[in-house]
Amino acid sequence: MGGLAAAWRLSEPGWQERFSRITVYQRGARLGGKGASSRGVHDRVEEHGLHVWLGYYDNAFAMMRQCYEELDRARTDPDCPIRSVDDAFFPSVRVGLFDDLNRLDPRAGPGWVPWLGDFTTNSLVPGDPASQSGSFTPLDIVRRSIRLLVDFFVSIDEHVTPVMSMSGSPIPPRRGGSLGAGVAHTAVALGIEALAAADALWELAVMEPVDRLATRLRSTLLERAGTDPAARRMWHLISIVVAQVRGLVTDGVLADPSRIRELNTEDYRAWTLRHGADPDAADSTLIRGLYDLVFGFRDGDPDQPGFGAGLGVFLSAKTFFDYKGAVFWKMAAGMGDVVIAPLHQALRSRGVDFELFTRIDDLHLDDSGERIGSIDITRQVELVDGPASYDPLVDVGGLPCFSRELLLEQIVGDPPTGTDSEAYESHWWPDDGGSRETLRRGIDFDDVVFALPVGMAPHVTSELVARDARWRAMCEGVATVATEALQLWIRSPEPELGWTTPGSTMTGYQPPFDTWASMPQLIEREHWPDDDRPTTVAYFCSALHEPDDPRADVDDPSTPTRARDEVARHVRELVGDRIGPLLPGLVDDGGATRWDLLCGAGDATGEARLDSQYWRANIDPSDRYVQSLPGTDHLRLRSDDSGFANMVLAGDWTDNGLNAGCIEAAVMSGLKAANAILGREPKTGVLGIYLDDW
Ligand SMILES: Cc1cc2nc3c(=O)[nH]c(=O)nc-3n(C[C@H](O)[C@H](O)[C@H](O)COP(=O)(O)OP(=O)(O)OC[C@H]3O[C@@H](n4cnc5c(N)ncnc54)[C@H](O)[C@@H]3O)c2cc1C
Repeated sequence: MGGLAAAWRLSEPGWQERFSRITVYQRGARLGGKGASSRGVHDRVEEHGLHVWLGYYDNAFAMMRQCYEELDRARTDPDCPIRSVDDAFFPSVRVGLFDDLNRLDPRAGPGWVPWLGDFTTNSLVPGDPASQSGSFTPLDIVRRSIRLLVDFFVSIDEHVTPVMSMSGSPIPPRRGGSLGAGVAHTAVALGIEALAAADALWELAVMEPVDRLATRLRSTLLERAGTDPAARRMWHLISIVVAQVRGLVTDGVLADPSRIRELNTEDYRAWTLRHGADPDAADSTLIRGLYDLVFGFRDGDPDQPGFGAGLGVFLSAKTFFDYKGAVFWKMAAGMGDVVIAPLHQALRSRGVDFELFTRIDDLHLDDSGERIGSIDITRQVELVDGPASYDPLVDVGGLPCFSRELLLEQIVGDPPTGTDSEAYESHWWPDDGGSRETLRRGIDFDDVVFALPVGMAPHVTSELVARDARWRAMCEGVATVATEALQLWIRSPEPELGWTTPGSTMTGYQPPFDTWASMPQLIEREHWPDDDRPTTVAYFCSALHEPDDPRADVDDPSTPTRARDEVARHVRELVGDRIGPLLPGLVDDGGATRWDLLCGAGDATGEARLDSQYWRANIDPSDRYVQSLPGTDHLRLRSDDSGFANMVLAGDWTDNGLNAGCIEAAVMSGLKAANAILGREPKTGVLGIYLDDW
C-alpha cells in the first residue's frame, strides 16, 4: 500500500518531465501486500484478514477519491458495479466488544456477552480537505474527553443506564440533560479554556473538577454494577478516560505536546494504571479490545499485551474524536477489488510500469557506502510481452479483480511452481525457479522507494544492516507479529443465527480469533448457486501465538504447512467449541455445531464441511503485522531519512506521524517518500494532524 501511494504521488500529471520511468517491482502477480485479495470458488472474496477503514483515514480516502475520479468508470466502464468511491465504501457504525461476565464472578451469568457501541454519523467527508478539523491538540483531546464525561453525567442524572453514544464532530450533538449537568459542563469547560492560556497549575486546577465529576459517576455506577453489567462497563470507560486526561496533564503533554512520543516507552495499560485507572477497568474488555485491534501482543501471546501509551491515547482520540462520516468504513467487495485494482488501473493509465513476478533479493551499496548501487532481483516467470506486460486483472461480474490463478496466456511456457499466484508471493518460493538479474544505479534506476515491509528488510538488506546502526536497530527492534484469519459462509441469516445487529464489528473475544465482523455486503459481489447461497459472511482474525522464535523457522520450507495446520486447529476449536456466544444459532440445542449451515461444502458431512471455508496463517515476513510495542517507536525511520542518499521509505513501519500498523500510516508514508524525491516538504499534500505536528 505504501509503495502504491508513493507511485500515486510521484506520477501526478506532468511526471514525465521529471522522470523517464516509474516502475513498481512486485513479487507474484497480486499487488496490495497485506491488503491483497482475490476470488476463490463461486467468486468468493478471499483476504489476508479483516480490513476496515477508520473514519480518520483522510489520506487513504483522498487518494481513492482521486483514483476513482480519474478512472471515471461511470463513463469508461458503466456496467462496473463499483464506479465511485461512494460505491466502494459504506459507513459502519456498529462497533462493539465482547465482555466475559464470568471474569470477575464465575456465577455472574451467561459468560461472553456483546456490548455494542452506538456511534453517530456526521456530515464530514473522509479525505475532503474541507472536512479537516483545524485543531487536534492534546488540549482538544482533554476537552472532548471532559465533554464525554459530562454526557455520562447527564445520563446518570436522568436515571437511565448510560449508553455509549459518540460523535466525531468537533462540536458533538448534546443529549438533553438536567440544568445541573449543563452548568457542571460549562464550569469544567470554562475552567479548561481559562487554563489553556496560563500553562501553570494544570494538574491541580484541571484535575480537581474532573475528579469530582468522576467520583460522582463512580459511586452511582458502582451502586448499580451488581445488577447491571452495563453500569460497570460504563464505569470502566469513565475510569480510563479520566486516567488518560490525568496522564496527559501530569506527564506534561498539555504543556509540551511533543512529549507524547516519550509515553511510547511505557505500555498503555500500565500507563493508565499509573494514572489512577481502576485495576478492574485496566483488565476489562475495553483495554483488551484496543490491543486486539492492533494485534498488540508480543509474539502473539495473549498473556503479553504491548502497545505504546502515547499511541494508545493518540489513536483512540483520532478514532473517536476525529472521524469523518462514520467511525468505521467497510468495503463493498474485497480490498484487492475496491482499492488495489483501481489503483493499478489508474497508475497504469498514468504510465507507471508494473514489473510483476519480480522478487527483490538483495540491495547493494555503491563504493561510497552511502547509496544503493545495485539491486539483485529474480524474474519468477518469463512474460510473453516483456517484464512490464502482465495484466493481473480479470472481470468478475463486471468488476476488475486480481486473479489468483496465473493467466497462462501471458506467460512463456509452464510456470515453475504451478498456477496459484500465492506460491509466487511467498518467502518460501523455491529459489531455483526463476532467472537472476541485477538492476544498476544510473542505468536501471536513480531513486529507490523501499516499500517492502520491515519484516522483510533484514532478508534483503544485509549490507545496509552491517553499514548503518540506525537501519540495524530498526530491523531488529520494530516488532512484527504473525496473524491468523478465517472466513465463513453460512446459509442462515444473522437474526436466525441469534445475531441481531448485522454489519457489526466486534472484538475482545477469547483468543484465538478475538475479532469478528459481519460482512453480508460481500454476497452481492460473489456468485453462489441458488441452492447453496450464504446469507451470512463472518470474518474472524487475531494475532497468531508463536511460542518459538519465528526467525529460526524462516528458512525451513515446512514452516508454512506447520503454521497452516496450527491455524486449522484453531479454526476447528472456534467453530466446533466456541462459536455459541457469537452466533448462537450455529449451535443446536445439544451444543453441537450445525455444520450443515456452512455453504460451499458440496456433499461433505459433519466437521469435514469446515474444510471448504477459507483461512490462512499470515506468517510470511512480508505479511506479518507491524506492531507498536513499548520502547520501539524511536527506532522507526522517517520516509525521508533512510540513511542512504538515494533511498526513501514507504510502509506502515516508518516514522510517519501515525506509527501504527494501518492503511493510513502506509499511505502517509508513501506520500512523504514521494515528497522527499520531489524535493518537497514532508507534509506537502498530506491531510490531518498527526504526532509529527505535536
Ligand atoms: C490480518 C490483518 C488485518 C489488518 N486489518 C487492518 C484494518 O482493518 N485496517 C487497517 O487500516 N489496517 C489493517 N491491517 C494493516 C494493513 O494491512 C497494513 O498496515 C498495510 O497493508 C501496510 O502496507 P505496507 O505498504 O506497509 O505493507 P504491505 O501491504 O505488506 O506491502 C508490502 C509489499 O511488498 C511486497 N514484497 C515483499 N517482499 C518482497 C520482495 N522480496 N520482492 C518484491 N516485493 C516484495 C509485498 O508483496 C507487498 O506488495 C491489517 C493487517 C493484517 C495482517
